[in-house]
Amino acid sequence: MSKRILVVEDNKTLAKLIAKKVSIELNFEVDVAYSLQEAKLFLKRYEYFLTLLDINLPDAPNGEIVEYALERKNRVIVLSGNIDKEFRKKMLKKNIIDYVTKSGANDVNYIIQTIRRLQKNQNHTILLIDDSLVFRKQMQGMLENMFFKVIAVAHGEEALGILNTNPNISLILTDYHMPVMNGLELTTEIRKTYTKTDLAIIVISSDNDEETTAIFLKNGANDYIKKPFSKEEFSCRINNSIEALENIQEITNHANRDFLTGLYNRRYFFANASKYFEDAISNSEPFAIAMIDIDHFKKINDTYGHETGDRAIVDLADILRSSVSSDDIVARFNGEEFCVLLKNASAQKALEIIEKIKEKVESHVTLSEKNEEIRFSVSMGVATTHDEDLNASVNEADMMLYNAKQNGRNKIVLN
Ligand code: GH3
Ligand code: MG
Ligand code: MG
Repeated sequence: MSKRILVVEDNKTLAKLIAKKVSIELNFEVDVAYSLQEAKLFLKRYEYFLTLLDINLPDAPNGEIVEYALERKNRVIVLSGNIDKEFRKKMLKKNIIDYVTKSGANDVNYIIQTIRRLQKNQNHTILLIDDSLVFRKQMQGMLENMFFKVIAVAHGEEALGILNTNPNISLILTDYHMPVMNGLELTTEIRKTYTKTDLAIIVISSDNDEETTAIFLKNGANDYIKKPFSKEEFSCRINNSIEALENIQEITNHANRDFLTGLYNRRYFFANASKYFEDAISNSEPFAIAMIDIDHFKKINDTYGHETGDRAIVDLADILRSSVSSDDIVARFNGEEFCVLLKNASAQKALEIIEKIKEKVESHVTLSEKNEEIRFSVSMGVATTHDEDLNASVNEADMMLYNAKQNGRNKIVLN
């Protein structure tokens, strides 16, 4: 996707202000044109992520540039000083993303926010369900214009199939009245598996019964859009739901991770490893739990300072992360103590991985704040046989770690 934006605006101060903000805050290449004539040259030459177009230019006073840019398949946000309602409506009928008035500094911030939103939309897939081909095409066009990936299907059953094979779908946009399975049945079915924070559902319908909205919301829809709707309402509601999902994911991520290293924290480890523990035991799948602790870490802190101690912790976290497979769980339990769950690993395989980690740590150099070279070692306790529960196995690994420390450190002890 192009990292270039075109700003066409004959008010030079405003044009430069927008260009500067967009390039600094969003890291885009920005071209600026002050007339339709100039804009045409740019549009012929480059492919743009987005064009921001003033509809009143010296050589194009009635929005002619919008038509020109759209014909060449550009994405357009209209900039306008015109607050005339009818004119605004007429513009929004065209295939533009948004219509922004430019009356104050806030509008530039709005533009930046909008572009940021559009960039993030590229990471989201929307599953669109409507039995009317015309309507489906129209909404698909609007969503793709907003940079979403779209999968469009004609009925609920087809949608459930798609959902099973596409775990990355963020949002379902469904019609109510459809043959075979209607939007309400579909919503109810999806909510058996996915919560509102896993997957958003927005229902679109021309149903006039005033109870319909409430019924959908009570049955798990995140939002309801009544037909006919304006393009602005449509895009705002979709963006709102997507933003809510992103915010919850970010909060969840914070709650599950350790701030310094980005590794999982102890709470997440226990919540997730417990589930795995039970499955693995009942499937007789071998696995190992390793406790890892830096030797004489206090000395590093005392000699080089706390900041440098932090560096050693971060370096060890990186070594651990890069030494295990992506399915394994690496967590920082506290201070310089880590716990790793090695899934589907025999004692033999676990030992190989653990030995590799020990070697990597031994040959690793952490640089102090003053660029002094610091070396450290780790002691590790590994539980490869398990009985009762996860807690017991972690305690077992902890006991083995204690033995490793007692036996002189820089050692691996296996049960
Ligand atoms: P041993 O070989 O027996 O493990 O000795 P040790 O010095 O590594 O272990 P000890 O548990 O005695 O000391 C750990 C120190 O780690 C104490 C604490 O101040 C420090 N510490 C805890 N959390 C952090 C942290 O986030 N950053 C830094 N820099 N130090 C920390
Ligand atoms: Mg230690
Ligand atoms: Mg310790």
